[in-house]
Amino acid sequence: MPVSIAVIGAGPSGFYTAAALIKSVRDCQVDMVEALPTPFGLVRGGVAPDHQSTKAVSKAFAKTAAHERVAYFGCVRLGQDVSLAELRGIYDAVVLALGAPLDRELAIPGGGKLGVHGAAAFVGWYNGHPDFADLNPDLNVERVCVIGNGNVALDVARVLVKTAAEMASSDLPDHAAGAIHGAPIQEVAIIGRRGPLQAKFANKELSELGGLADCVPLADAKDLPDGVTGPMSERTRRLAEKNLKTFRGFAARNPAERRKRLRFRFYAMPLEVLGGDRVEGLRLERTCLREGRAIGTGETMDLACGLVVPAIGYRMAPVEGVPIDAETGVVRNRNGRVEPGLYVAGWAKRGPLGVIGTNKSDGDDVAAQIAQDAGQGGKPGRSALEALLRGRGIRWVAFRDWQRIDAAEIAAAPPAAPRRKFVRINDMLEILD
Ligand SMILES: Cc1cc2nc3c(=O)[nH]c(=O)nc-3n(C[C@H](O)[C@H](O)[C@H](O)COP(=O)(O)OP(=O)(O)OC[C@H]3O[C@@H](n4cnc5c(N)ncnc54)[C@H](O)[C@@H]3O)c2cc1C
Repeated sequence: MPVSIAVIGAGPSGFYTAAALIKSVRDCQVDMVEALPTPFGLVRGGVAPDHQSTKAVSKAFAKTAAHERVAYFGCVRLGQDVSLAELRGIYDAVVLALGAPLDRELAIPGGGKLGVHGAAAFVGWYNGHPDFADLNPDLNVERVCVIGNGNVALDVARVLVKTAAEMASSDLPDHAAGAIHGAPIQEVAIIGRRGPLQAKFANKELSELGGLADCVPLADAKDLPDGVTGPMSERTRRLAEKNLKTFRGFAARNPAERRKRLRFRFYAMPLEVLGGDRVEGLRLERTCLREGRAIGTGETMDLACGLVVPAIGYRMAPVEGVPIDAETGVVRNRNGRVEPGLYVAGWAKRGPLGVIGTNKSDGDDVAAQIAQDAGQGGKPGRSALEALLRGRGIRWVAFRDWQRIDAAEIAAAPPAAPRRKFVRINDMLEILD
């Protein structure tokens, strides 16, 4: 009897886990259960629409999905269509690869005003994620404040200031392209509590901002130190040195060079979102660094803006039966083991850190543990899941169904674009009927 394994979530960690399972667990059957009809998680719904080469990893994932021992059950949501207890009853092992799809809350006064959209929602909206299709952010604003100093903040800022021509070879959906390219945005401020050396920007993404067609990146020379000092790993030092050089270049640019500005504001701690029901500005407090931490100096300034996008981290969505640790916000685990027969990988295990490839070792670890733990198998797995879903009248999307949706998106692509995404689940399912 094959060892039956359900992997919940078809993002990078789900696919790396499935690939490792096929290699290391002899005679296993792997079923991938995914809430959306579309696979690939944040590779489709997070990675920026103008970074298509990063999305090429989904070709390798598709090969895994096509493996004879792997089946895809798209459009089946854990906690809604099927419970964890049910899956654990019918599979020998269950792997949670659910990611961390929700925004961490901006916990300052006014953080809930209209016009504050966390990056998970905002990125989901401009990437055509069905859950955020109706977000409708009001972009009739001149200044946007993006809070956070990681790569997600850079993605959001860049997508907001690139021209329609620069986005022509992206898969930015029509609704987002219309809103962004019709917006009167003049400036995007990227706000960080600490300094340029503490920012987590990858240098490739940071440097890319130097070559934008209609926007000039700016940094304040007085925020830039003379050099990189202090104890840190060699890797961190190299990144900080490269970024410092890039910021020096930005500090030398002329704000009048282009129509739009992308301004880095360091040592600035958001205190309050200002306005009535809607965002009208952001109150910032100047900080200084003490032992690496940002400490308020008492000096404040108000920055007028109409949209605030906090890019300050992601958290898991609660699902019945999934033990999420209140402190860490991830599934309680010991190196991927949760309970006998239950495992976790990816952002659900480690939190929202690292790049796509970082999830590979999670998959390898979990597969090695399942190979050790699973024994001879014995639970029915796939046939029981199919019977359960049929009994509930739940229609699932198989991988060949997704390939038809994929083909329809590619066929509908505007010239130069890779695809025109469906953003509604019903529209995807209609293709299949
Ligand atoms: C905005 C953004 C941009 C990024 N850009 C890059 C980049 O350019 N390069 C790079 O290397 N990395 C990038 N990353 C990081 C990379 O996307 C992550 O490392 C990776 O996607 C995490 O994989 P995961 O499988 O753990 O989670 P996810 O990719 O989030 O996948 C989780 C999957 O689980 C599904 N799911 C969730 N809940 C349920 C449920 N209840 N039932 C069934 N299925 C469920 C989701 O629909 C999703 O498909 C970016 C991340 C973000 C947020």
